Formats: sequence, C-alpha cells, structure tokens
Amino acid sequence: MGQTGVWYQEDFWSRLKCGARRLIPGPIRSRAGGWLRAWMPYSWQMGSAFRSAYSLLEKSQWWSEERILAYQLDRLREVVYHAGKNVPGYRLKFAEHKVGPESISALDDIRRFPCLTKEDLRNDPELYVAETIPKERLQYVTSGGTTGAPTGFYHISQYNDDLAAAFRLMMWKRIGYTPRSRALDLTASFEGGLLHHAPDGNLLWVSISALDSRRFPSYLDAIRDFRPEFIIGFPSTVTLFAQLARDFRISGVQIRGVITASEVMHQAQRRYISEVFRCRILQWYGLAEYAGFASGCEHSDEYHFFPECGHVELLDAQGSPVMEEGATGEIVLTGFHNWATPFIRYRTGDRGAWGKRRCGWCGRNYPTLKEISGRIQEFLVARNGRLIPSSALNVHSGLFDQVWCYQFYQESPGKVVLNIQKKPSYEASTTESIRQHVLERLGGEVELEIRFVEEIPRTQRGKHKFIVQKLPAVGRGSPAAWPSPSGQDTYLGSMGAGRGHALVQPDMVNRER
Ligand SMILES: [Zn+2]
Repeated sequence: MGQTGVWYQEDFWSRLKCGARRLIPGPIRSRAGGWLRAWMPYSWQMGSAFRSAYSLLEKSQWWSEERILAYQLDRLREVVYHAGKNVPGYRLKFAEHKVGPESISALDDIRRFPCLTKEDLRNDPELYVAETIPKERLQYVTSGGTTGAPTGFYHISQYNDDLAAAFRLMMWKRIGYTPRSRALDLTASFEGGLLHHAPDGNLLWVSISALDSRRFPSYLDAIRDFRPEFIIGFPSTVTLFAQLARDFRISGVQIRGVITASEVMHQAQRRYISEVFRCRILQWYGLAEYAGFASGCEHSDEYHFFPECGHVELLDAQGSPVMEEGATGEIVLTGFHNWATPFIRYRTGDRGAWGKRRCGWCGRNYPTLKEISGRIQEFLVARNGRLIPSSALNVHSGLFDQVWCYQFYQESPGKVVLNIQKKPSYEASTTESIRQHVLERLGGEVELEIRFVEEIPRTQRGKHKFIVQKLPAVGRGSPAAWPSPSGQDTYLGSMGAGRGHALVQPDMVNRER
C-alpha cells in the first residue's frame, strides 16, 4: 500500500511549473497566463492531478455500486494507513481507540474510528499535518469564515486545487457549463472598479457591493455587452442580481444556467431565480477542506456526493449513525485525497437529510442528500439599506489566525460591531489589518467598530452565531415561503416572494422600524 493516493503522483513538469510560477512577477504572469489560457485547452492549463482525476471521474460516474464500494474501501484503507503512520494527531487518536488499517474490512468499519472536530484542528493544526509532505508543498488554508470560528489546515499546493477543479467542472458541466462559457461571477466584494474581467475574457466579476439600485445601473451596459451565459454566485447574491435584472430590464441576455454554493438555497429563492432567468439552477456543496463535493445532476436537485472524493456519514446528536431515507443528521466526511491534513470522520457542522443510494434520474450510484442546511444565511445592513450576506464576509486568509472567535453585531443600519475574542498570540498591529480587510468586504456605507471581548456566547444549541442581527426583520408577515433555518426572524424575511423590491430600496429598514 502506498503512502499517497493514486492521483498524487506529480511529474517533473508539474514541479517545474510550480517553481517557474514563483519566479515570474505577478502582473506578467497574469497577462501571459490570460493570453495562454485563451487558446490552450483547459486540461493543459491545469496540472497532471486535474487530468488524472477528470478522466477517472468521466468513467467512474457510471460504475456499478459494487465497483464504487470496492474503490472506496481501497481509498479508505490507504488514507487510514497514511494518517496512522505519518500524522501525529491521528497516531495518538488511533492508539487511544485501538484502531488502525487492520480494523477495516468493510466500509462501515469507519464507524469504529474517532471523529475529527474543528476544535481538534483549532487547538493545534500542526498536530494533524503529515510528516512526509515536504514543507514547501504545504499550503495553509482556513475555512469556517462564516461561522466566525476559523479552522486552519493544509493542502498540498496546486495538487489539491487541481483536484477540486476537476470535481467542480464535473458538477458544473451537468448543466452545460464548460471552461469556455462566459460567466458572471457574484462571489466577491471589492472596491475600486466594481467590474473585473478575467484575463482570458470569459469571466466577469461584479462586486457584491455593486448590487444595489444606486450603483448597479452604471454596470448595466458592461454586463449586457459581455452577454453572460452562466451566473456563478451565492443564492443571496444571485437573488439580488435577479431582482436588479428584473427592475432594470436587462434585455438581450440569455442565461443558460445559474451555479450557486456556500449558503442554503431556499425554495422561494429557487423559484424567484428560475422565474427571472428561466434556466436550471445547480446548487453545489463543497468545503474548503475539499473532503466532499456534491451537487444536483442533469435532472434532479438532490445533492449527489462524489464517492470518488470521500465517504459521507450522517450522525445524530449522540454520534450514532443516521441511516433511513429522509432522516437528518450532521454531515461527517472522510476525504480520500487530503494527504497534507487528512480528514477522517470530520464533523462539518452542516446538516443534511438522506436521499437514495442511487439517483433514479441519472442512474449514478452516488449517495444523495435531499437537502443541506445549517449554514445559516444572515445579513448585515448598510446605511443605504443594502444587504450584505454573511458569505460576502467569508475569510479564507490567515488574517484571523490570532483570533479565537469573532462575531458581527448590529443594532442600527450602517453600524456594525465586530466582537473579537483574542488568542494569547494576538498582536496589536493585527487590529488595523482586520479593520481594513473587513471594511473592504463590507463594501462601503458601513461604520465598523472593533471590540475585544472575554467570550463570545453561543446559542442554546451550542452553535456559534456569525451575525447577531438586532434590526427588526423587514417584511414580517410576508409569505412563509422563506423560512429562516434558525426559526427566528432574520433579514431572510425581507426576501419573501412577492416583495421583490424589499432588497434594494434604501429606505426599507428605516420605514419598517
Ligand atoms: Zn442524478
């Protein structure tokens, strides 16, 4: 049994490419890269890991259930062997629970292993790094930006991103997307030129902060000229865009598909977006950990989990497996390709409800989840009433490494308090960097106050809330089609069907108060 997976075989050229990339200055690299990308086949632009993964996935998606289970069992043994041998944190855990590769004779034997929690990683991320991966190949990543309790871990640079790109493209192409498609990207907030063209010309970013009725009209022409075929965004940002597109009557733009992720997609949002654009919506699920990817297929909206990427379990509050169709539990993932920081029975904090073992529509023998919830979608409100979704505040940099926990708090429009619970390593100079970074994400019209607190209280269910929103819910009494997952009134209420303008009218918040 090898130490690493079948896909982790980097050739000389991939390593050379990585090294060469560091030597060329950024601007030249991006211009030359754009020019090259314009004519190079997509698979050439990517590393060898992308090509191996993609060609395997094209075949394996139609494998029989037996073949898939056999593949998963091999991968599981491999990752458990690697973790138990090369990763100090797992060595300790496995010894304590008296388990190891020999404990696995069937896939379900994974249940004998202890879970990995976000607290484990936050307490000591270095403990879960494989000793065999060369330091210069380790890429530090943080996730959990929207939970306010960042978790740090490592990828193998280039390799893990290449794999993620393969899974992403496999999902996206189910609704007709190709790397050559012209797509509008609504996933980033940036100041200074609220439009940004990718160098190869087939991606146009519109800043989330430009999605209000005041700024949007100045970008209408550019969007129309670009003629987007696909929209990539969060459910909340695509809904905002759909409302603006309808209000400002963007004509001559034929959207073929909408691709969303990172937030719960509510039925009313789905209805509204498909009503405006009259196309398929592909909602996909993926963590920065890359331990699992899932999306709908050509015909169904249920989340098809790639069995080639990892193993999915649902656990109840006591940690027992949830098995029945329709039953819900916490999503627990074992990734098959995370060689830097392995994720074995990783508790994601997200919740899902089982669908079938096989999709009756497309025939793939992929386990499906009917729904995924738990990433509670919340908003901050700018002075002009613009709603800022929590996903826009997502932080994937190491900026919050010296912070144990943080939380946004709002009582009046345009005024936001950021509460920070410091780690002992916190340096005073960090505060200014955090302020700059967060202000940029907030996108203007917001005053930010940073406060340091002893502790950030959790909800009754022990969950950390990323945003505490004290503003009264707009549109209370509007159709119940837009339930807030937490069961509380939040600004989700303002997006209720039939109140199409609530999102973009600057005086909305004040009027309701
Ligand atoms: Zn299907």
